[in-house]
Amino acid sequence: MTTRTLKQVIKSIATSDGGGVKLLRSIGQRQNLRLDPFLMLDEFSSMNADDYIAGFPDHPHRGFETITYMLDGHMLHRDHLGNQGDLKSGAAQWMTAGRGIIHSEMPQQNSGRMRGFQLWINLPAKEKMKPAAYQDIQPEQMPIINLAHGGTVKIIAGEAEIEDQTIVGPIQSSSTEPLFLDIRLHAGADFILPIAPSHNAFIYPYEGQQEIGLGTEKQTLTTHSAGLLSNGDYLAVQAGEENLAFLLLAAKPLHEPIVQYGPFVMNTHEEIEQAIADYRNGRLVLPD
Ligand code: FE
Repeated sequence: MTTRTLKQVIKSIATSDGGGVKLLRSIGQRQNLRLDPFLMLDEFSSMNADDYIAGFPDHPHRGFETITYMLDGHMLHRDHLGNQGDLKSGAAQWMTAGRGIIHSEMPQQNSGRMRGFQLWINLPAKEKMKPAAYQDIQPEQMPIINLAHGGTVKIIAGEAEIEDQTIVGPIQSSSTEPLFLDIRLHAGADFILPIAPSHNAFIYPYEGQQEIGLGTEKQTLTTHSAGLLSNGDYLAVQAGEENLAFLLLAAKPLHEPIVQYGPFVMNTHEEIEQAIADYRNGRLVLPD
């Protein structure tokens, strides 16, 4: 059994996207700062409506999946297929853009805290042009496990072995077999999680003291940074003197070329040119 250690840290940078939503971007802030198949991770967190009220008006995607996970607040999603979804505190949305989707994600509040994450996961070449689909996942659909040493694990996607129980999350759909957990540890608590050796994995601490312990080497990772993990069979984390909250993401790498132009992620330049042309002439979202 080999423990996974920190192999690279991507500190998040402050940026904005959509209509001008302020956010912290770690993975994907530059095109060489990714972890196959993860393309991007954004964290948004503000008590100030000016930072989020503009939301994400109509915009396209092609070739990958976007996952929104809300911690606090309320957003409304609408897409060209006529789908509409309410994203409230603790809920998630899993959208497979596939061939193409045009959607908006707009805050439904003008005061109070808005906090959550958006994650982009790549699709393999053979699935980039499949029909768009999405799933709304309500908080009560996501199992929450109480840990013996204090804390909880919430399962958004995949299957996890936690304290000798196998827990299955509500999302199992993708060929990259993503595991997406929201883990909260009490101060001083230890946590061990087996992770498939075939998967790339990272953690993203978003609450707690500045540094957490990882593995047996007591490596440290700052909050609001993506800690990319080495290969291995399991993760071991120790919370410090404060309670700790972090995301754990793991998925099977695709080992395929990536060509990205904004919200289009394909394998070749020709496919990107096609996506841009399709979007311009209204064919992005049409069936073949
Ligand atoms: Fe989007």
